[in-house]
Amino acid sequence: MYVCGPTVYDLPHIGHGRANLTFDILRRYLSFTGLKVHHVANVTDVDDNIIKRATELGRTEPDVAAEFEAHWWESMEALGDLRPQDVPHATQYIEDMVALVGDLVGRGMAYETPDGVYLEVAKVEGYGLLAQQSLESLQAGARVEANEDKRSPLDFALWKKAKEGEPSWESPWGRGRPGWHTECVVMSLDLLGEGFDLHGGGQDLKFPHHENERAQAVADGKAFARHWMHHGWVEVEGTKMSKSLGNFSTLPDLLARSDPRAYRVLVLRAHYRSPIEVTPDTLADAEKALARLDGLVRRFPDAGVAELLAETAEGFVVEGTPPAVDVDAEALAAFRARMDNDLDTPGALAAIFELVTAAHSAADGGDETEGARLAHSAAVLLAALGLSLRGDEAEVDEGSARLVAERDEARRARDFARADTLRDELVARGWTVEDTPSGTAIRR
Ligand SMILES: [Zn+2]
Repeated sequence: MYVCGPTVYDLPHIGHGRANLTFDILRRYLSFTGLKVHHVANVTDVDDNIIKRATELGRTEPDVAAEFEAHWWESMEALGDLRPQDVPHATQYIEDMVALVGDLVGRGMAYETPDGVYLEVAKVEGYGLLAQQSLESLQAGARVEANEDKRSPLDFALWKKAKEGEPSWESPWGRGRPGWHTECVVMSLDLLGEGFDLHGGGQDLKFPHHENERAQAVADGKAFARHWMHHGWVEVEGTKMSKSLGNFSTLPDLLARSDPRAYRVLVLRAHYRSPIEVTPDTLADAEKALARLDGLVRRFPDAGVAELLAETAEGFVVEGTPPAVDVDAEALAAFRARMDNDLDTPGALAAIFELVTAAHSAADGGDETEGARLAHSAAVLLAALGLSLRGDEAEVDEGSARLVAERDEARRARDFARADTLRDELVARGWTVEDTPSGTAIRR
């Protein structure tokens, strides 16, 4: 799968977090089902915004791009997103892009103007497929531009001729740089090949970015993505999040303010095509759900859930094979039926919560083994969604620590009655007490 990545000139915003979580969840799930996933996401490291930012800061473009790319990966790691196996950068593909533009000009699909090279979209079969509009209606709705050299307002730049002081590369049309829509076509076809399975991105990329990517591939006689997947946007306090509305908030901000796993829960709770609302309230609510899930590991530590998660999260993603762990057959079928239905993550998560309830009920009814088995299943399915559980041991308070010391003293003095009384006191405080070679061990 090819997913459009960031243009690195600023800190990642909350919408980027959703984009990455959506495709991370998809990738992990596909791997969980046994598919090998080759995940490619690009980094746009040359563009108008980067040039503008570099000028403002009095720094070079590569320097600015490198700094914001580092922030990008830091946030994605905090979200628990797996890195794509390939991260092509636009500046590494200039030669290939020049070659594609040359091909398109040679085929009579593109033309040169005083400021660049443009694709003539009227010549592209099926232009408007992703926008789900005809060429005529797109043309009627297009913004009228000052550029009189373009044959249609819908024609877009494949190559931009350099202006004074801008980064530029050699080409048959003089020095310049590629248009944004060109990099994704070249990189996806190079790394994944013609007719690759899935192309993803946000709903806002559907038109014109993805339409224009497809148009270039079609104009060049190549089979492009076989499926497209576009996720919904993020709302902050009821309005679409965007920089122009002034409600722009960065992802590092959000990650510092809440459990980073809470954002994944929010994303899972909505269908990927629906908008989601990210507010302190919705995040707090997601944290409550997490607390319930974490409670599973605290109650069933012997299910080996934590170790299993570490193992499966890496194991099945790297190997591309389903985890060799037992998952309750019925729960697995319910989970897969939902996920296979256009990635119904809200339904899948609800099914896991039912499993959590069932695990607790079984243990409450005295069947610890069954409880642990169901807890184990729930943890595996959560791992398939990239959600890890934390069974962090609670801090041992001073009073409890004193009781532990006293009990160890009593045992050394062979005062077992006293040791038992102290054990009961610890249990009453909510601890599970174990005798180990090094003395009394307690855990929640
Ligand atoms: Zn793209």
